[in-house]
Amino acid sequence: MSYDINNVFAKILRKEIPNKTIYEDDFVLAFYDLYPKAKIHALVIPKGQYVDFQDFIQHAPANEKDGFFNGILATVRTLQLEESGYRLVFNTGRDSGQEVPHLHAHILAGQKLGDKL
Ligand code: AMP
Repeated sequence: MSYDINNVFAKILRKEIPNKTIYEDDFVLAFYDLYPKAKIHALVIPKGQYVDFQDFIQHAPANEKDGFFNGILATVRTLQLEESGYRLVFNTGRDSGQEVPHLHAHILAGQKLGDKL
């Protein structure tokens, strides 16, 4: 799938749509999900244009991969979740119900999360 530059997260990165930023650096932007599915629900997106997990793993250079995963950890630390824990989710493709075609990690936390799937 080719990257759609008009997806909602691309608009957030271009500051055309507001977001509640949690953490930002050269590689990622992390912000609160608009429709939280847990007490704490954050999204971490790379600043590069990648549709989903497999696009990112296959095409991103090593420094962007490092930057993305370090950015997820920095977000976890900013939210002070290292002790209490959290769940990371990457919805990928049609069967997952992925809605936004820009790679994003969901961080779900702040409560007992119940069934794993
Ligand atoms: P997914 O289903 O994995 O593609 O997740 C997309 C997520 O983006 C959903 O949890 C939505 O609630 C969230 N979302 C959609 N639009 C916005 C927005 N403008 N700001 C923050 N989160 C959003």
